[in-house]
Amino acid sequence: MAKVTPVRKQYLQIKSQHPDAILFFRLGDFYETFDKDAEIAARELDLVLTSRPVAKDQRVPMAGVPHHAVEGYIARLIEKGYRVAIAEQVGEVTGRGLVERKVTRVVTPGTVIEQTLLDEKCPNYLAAIVTDGDGESAQAGLAYADITTGEFATTQLPLEEVTQELARLQPRECLLPTDQQGEAARREATLIAEAQLNGTHITPVPAYRFELGAARQTILDHFGVATMDGFGCAGKPLAIRAAGAVLHYLQETQRGAVSQIVGLHTYTTTRYMTLDASTRRNLELTETIREHQTRGSLLDVLDKTLTPMGGRLLRTRLTQPLLDREELEARLDQVQTFYDDTVLRGQVREQLKEMPDLERLTNRVLTGVATPRDLLGIRKGLEIVPKLRAIIGNRGNEGNGGNAIEAIAGQLDPCDDVADLIRASIADDPPASPTAGGVIRAGFSAELDSIIAATRDARTWIANLEQSERERTGIKNLKVGYNKVFGYYIEITKANLGALPAEYIRKQTLVNAERFITPELKEYETLILNAEERQAEVETRLFEEIRRQVAARSQALLRTARALARLDVASALAEVAVRNRYVRPTLSEDSTLEIVAGRHPVVEQTLRDTPFTPNDVHLNDEQRILVITGPNMAGKSVYLRQNALIVLMAQIGSFVPADRARVGIVDRIFTRIGAQDEVALGQSTFMVEMVETANILNHATSRSLLILDEIGRGTSTYDGLSIAWAVVEYLHNHPERRARTLFATHYHELTELDKRLPAVHNYNLAVVEEGEQVIFLHKVVPGGADRSYGIHVARLAGVPRPVIQRAEDLLEQLESGEFRPGTGTPEPFQPVLFAAEHPVVEALRHLDVATLTPLEAINRLYELQQQVEKQKDGGRRRSRR
Ligand code: ATP
Repeated sequence: MAKVTPVRKQYLQIKSQHPDAILFFRLGDFYETFDKDAEIAARELDLVLTSRPVAKDQRVPMAGVPHHAVEGYIARLIEKGYRVAIAEQVGEVTGRGLVERKVTRVVTPGTVIEQTLLDEKCPNYLAAIVTDGDGESAQAGLAYADITTGEFATTQLPLEEVTQELARLQPRECLLPTDQQGEAARREATLIAEAQLNGTHITPVPAYRFELGAARQTILDHFGVATMDGFGCAGKPLAIRAAGAVLHYLQETQRGAVSQIVGLHTYTTTRYMTLDASTRRNLELTETIREHQTRGSLLDVLDKTLTPMGGRLLRTRLTQPLLDREELEARLDQVQTFYDDTVLRGQVREQLKEMPDLERLTNRVLTGVATPRDLLGIRKGLEIVPKLRAIIGNRGNEGNGGNAIEAIAGQLDPCDDVADLIRASIADDPPASPTAGGVIRAGFSAELDSIIAATRDARTWIANLEQSERERTGIKNLKVGYNKVFGYYIEITKANLGALPAEYIRKQTLVNAERFITPELKEYETLILNAEERQAEVETRLFEEIRRQVAARSQALLRTARALARLDVASALAEVAVRNRYVRPTLSEDSTLEIVAGRHPVVEQTLRDTPFTPNDVHLNDEQRILVITGPNMAGKSVYLRQNALIVLMAQIGSFVPADRARVGIVDRIFTRIGAQDEVALGQSTFMVEMVETANILNHATSRSLLILDEIGRGTSTYDGLSIAWAVVEYLHNHPERRARTLFATHYHELTELDKRLPAVHNYNLAVVEEGEQVIFLHKVVPGGADRSYGIHVARLAGVPRPVIQRAEDLLEQLESGEFRPGTGTPEPFQPVLFAAEHPVVEALRHLDVATLTPLEAINRLYELQQQVEKQKDGGRRRSRR
């Protein structure tokens, strides 16, 4: 085989270290890809596939992208699930010999810092999971980090809770150990399926990366500490193993530049309300079920934050409601202050509106990718901080709530030294790149100023040269010009060559003219070129130095950014509360839930023509389970969800849509509401329904809130009704599962339970019938409903008239007992157990005895007797089945 070129050798050597990534290899102004990578890049990025010689008579496929547009191309590859390794020229480019190249970063979904790839109001998490143990005692370690904000946290939790945490975090990328066997391998397969359903990219990592010793060492080395004690993960080996794997992966992909990870926080899920994946989905907390959009979700209604870090904090809080009353009261105090003080709210929000993403900007400084414009952003942010402090400080001492806001303001550090430094050093309108020239403000560095001054003189001299030489030589059309090959020159037309001064040196001959240089011109030219090079050098050095100084203050900057986020969230929640007429909830430790005139926060916003009808709920030990019946479309689902949402809002520290609300803190909200996405997992709708029901019955506690919408609907009437009945009984009688429960159902038979179980109470949604019209009042009133008005809804939906008529007809026959499905079988349609009235009794009631002849009466009596006999048979047959 012919000898390959040195650059090819270098490429192959680097590529061998990154076989699973697409290698972007810097060659001059381009990033090139080769071989298989080039084919993929060409296909995925619509690039032209060319080729490049690598040895005598040997070419390989090549596709490249210009360096200035690389971010967009990387973004597209990451979106498609690829990883990209970036090999930069790190040595000096001399034009002679081979430039040194090194991979400076591997970009993966969980480690992007490219702004085009980040949603500014969303964290971008890289997670890692490791599991251990069998059966009930199986545990997992779950760690996650966001390198754009420096957040790094880990936990150890029961294996079965991992799915919930994943649903909360929605990481972009998740590391899992490879080479697992037996039970662990099976668990892993499940985790992969679940993670992928969330749109998480799975990255297999060798199992030894999760090994305890290695993981601990990685953490100790990174933080430069001798013990793990400070991180709170002592006794949680799985938490350490997961955290170590995350950290190691970051070091590997970021080439060690993970200085933004300055702390590790060990948390426990017991501090937070438990919300499983289906509950998050059903309640449409951060996105809608159907379109997967933020619009139409609870977050959409609440998110009046004005800064990206505030937006991220609100989202985090929404996915992690608290259980601690004191903490919640503190948050509510903050909202209250802004709620009460319109002027304060207006002024603070006016300032926040201008606040850039101080958190991510600081992290860009820490990772060394910050541009001059990023520093300008930090300066702009810091200049707002003193104004905010003044606004809050000027309020004086106005009660507890005031102190709550002042406490946050106390954590706002204006970092004057940093602001002053950037103000003094960075030009007002700097270029995007630190090496482009013009980054550093005049007056900041004497060295730089003298270089620029020198070129300024030389440039003026050259600019004046044309005029002075014309005067000196008398050649009117003498011209001074510049080109890349010869540099500066003096051009004289052939007709004027007679007047040529002696010191002109000929450089180039054109058709009509000749070009010359003079020693003096060359001197100035060299001066300018050298100065430009030195200017770039000095500016880059100065910029690096400034960046380092700002990085040194990152702790204070990040603390400020986080305090800003808290101010933003508190003022945003107050703004929403005022606009939408929310009230402060009262929190308690008991199991009451009392809401007066509650509303659904999202539905009330979307109703256009009709006003939203508020509804109450009263739950306590005496009235713990509500069986809610009512026609289709009457508002059962809305009522159920609104109560869950009000509880949830109260437990993130928000005001709530009601006239009054008292919430006994809920440890977990369970929902069982229609099945949507699970079909993708290959389970039948009814199976999903029962799995969820099982989960609720096994895990609900006396502090939980259960929202059950039509349990048992996905199967035959008898099975469904029996299951629903048994579920209510279980929840009522089981000593540890006495959860507050809202149970909506179309099985009117369940209203029977009201009489049998003391804590069960019936409610229904009121309707008024006007002739053929049915008017939904959407009002929840005590008592059970007796009709479904399903056919009425079918009519509203546009089902053809003949079908409607036939259905009405059948309904009448069914209700009167004249017709039973399954012709020829004597099986009664109404379940005997719960039937309101026996059909024979009903027939008797309609009998007009006064007009019957004795013979007719005997015949009728005989028929009724037959009917009773048949039903008895049917009943016996059923019980034998
Ligand atoms: P189904 O039994 O068919 O599932 P449902 O009783 O659960 O019906 P919902 O879906 O809760 O009915 O409500 C139907 C529609 O009625 C909602 O989309 C909403 O537009 C309206 N609605 C519900 N509750 C109210 C309310 N309190 N005030 C005003 N409109 C409401």
